[in-house]
Amino acid sequence: MTHPAQPTASHFINGQYVEDTNGTPIPVIYAATGETIATVYAATPAIVDQALASAKAAQKAWAKMTGTERGRILRRAADMIRDRNQELSVLETYDTGKPLQETLVADATSGADALEYFGGLAGSLTGEHIPMGDDWVYTIREALGVCVGIGAWNYPTQIACWKAAPALACGNSMVFKPSETTPLCALKVAEILVEAGLPAGLYNVIQGMGEVGGALVTDPRVDKVSLTGSVPTGKKVYAAAAAEMKHVTMELGGKSPMIVFEDADIDNAVGGAINGNFYSSGQVCSNGTRVFVHSSIKEKFLARLAERVQGAVLGDPQDEATNFGPMVSENQMNIVLGYIEKGKAEGARLICGGDRVDLPGYFIAPTVFADVKDDMVIAREEIFGPVMAVLDFEDEDEVIARANDTEFGLSAGVFTKDLSRGHRVISALEAGSCFINSYNDAPVEAPFGGVKASGVGRENSKEALNHYSQVKSVYVRMGDCEAAF
Ligand code: NAD
Repeated sequence: MTHPAQPTASHFINGQYVEDTNGTPIPVIYAATGETIATVYAATPAIVDQALASAKAAQKAWAKMTGTERGRILRRAADMIRDRNQELSVLETYDTGKPLQETLVADATSGADALEYFGGLAGSLTGEHIPMGDDWVYTIREALGVCVGIGAWNYPTQIACWKAAPALACGNSMVFKPSETTPLCALKVAEILVEAGLPAGLYNVIQGMGEVGGALVTDPRVDKVSLTGSVPTGKKVYAAAAAEMKHVTMELGGKSPMIVFEDADIDNAVGGAINGNFYSSGQVCSNGTRVFVHSSIKEKFLARLAERVQGAVLGDPQDEATNFGPMVSENQMNIVLGYIEKGKAEGARLICGGDRVDLPGYFIAPTVFADVKDDMVIAREEIFGPVMAVLDFEDEDEVIARANDTEFGLSAGVFTKDLSRGHRVISALEAGSCFINSYNDAPVEAPFGGVKASGVGRENSKEALNHYSQVKSVYVRMGDCEAAF
């Protein structure tokens, strides 16, 4: 019998599902059991062409509609997503293995927030009037044209919507390629947008591995590329887009610091460290995986952390009581287990976890290492799994320098009751998305994105509109146009 997660077809192009079984089959494996629950096929060159042609053909008329008209469709899609949250969350759990307890509140709902927010803003996209004596300049904020979205596997619905919503609000069209590991959810987003009234061709989803992403990025019909993925992929995609002077947004990886000062509320700091390391089993780009704890409170912090980690409930992710799921894939599990072995070999002190769990699927126990040193591999490289590195520090200047000593710059967090210190330290940290006495909040109203190798551009908030549009300025002369000869 066909599994309920099997989509109608692999691709969604020009308002409908499209199949082409000539592409490489991509099995969709449920991470909690290891079973293949669906199969899709990578886009062939013909499918890539069809998707880009339909995006190109539909874009100009969409950009000519009023922002309010465009926004109404996006807001209708947001309502439909909320109405169907249960069904979409179950699918997200099949796609990623993340527990339903999480997907019910963090995935389709976050996608709906983006569609509602940018739907609301679409009508307010305006230019400026700049007086120049008798003359004046006016500006027009114009759509870029055809945008390509390329997704990572950790938040397939959210990533699809975070890219679609501002792109469409600004009058662009999009071809979105989900991660080959989680190809299912974006198809539902496309289906719902069309049901909400989005004209055909404006939001297309095609499947495939890196080659399909690469074919999209280099196509001359494409004006902008927005990637969510790792730094190595980001460097390749950015370079390919730069060769043709295309716009980019790069949402990449991190190895973010979370700093716990001696006056911090220990339970809040432990809560922040749990959110910033174990939510989605640690598969979150902005995670605070280098937890710097003042040496005077280190043992107290570790004791409370070890106690609270006992509250992790591992098991069937479709059971709402489960709060900690498997790694997305066997491959990701093996990568993370490799890092855990490196941590042990480098002499970090294992506080809890440290192994695969004896359950079907790809579970790794929430793992905490203490006495981690700055030069250990587990303190330098993004692991993208449930592995927290706790490091000690003595004073503020020292911890700021050590926190910034990384190629990454996605996020940073500070826990302290001294708010002047909180703001001072955050302002000195080289990161794009920061938190004081909290960790990993990502509301659509706040800009999201990194500095240094963690990225270029911002998603969410009004900032995202600048990355999906460009400004035309028009000088209007009221008098004669004088010339030298
Ligand atoms: P990845 O870099 O392996 O793949 C990301 C996407 O890029 C996939 O869809 C993949 O098929 C595609 N791709 C790969 N090579 C390509 C190429 N040459 N041209 C075009 N497309 C190509 O990342 P992943 O393993 O899917 O996701 C995990 C990474 O994503 C982590 O580093 C994580 O930090 C990052 N991430 C960042 C954010 C953020 O917003 N900053 C959010 C989620 C995940």
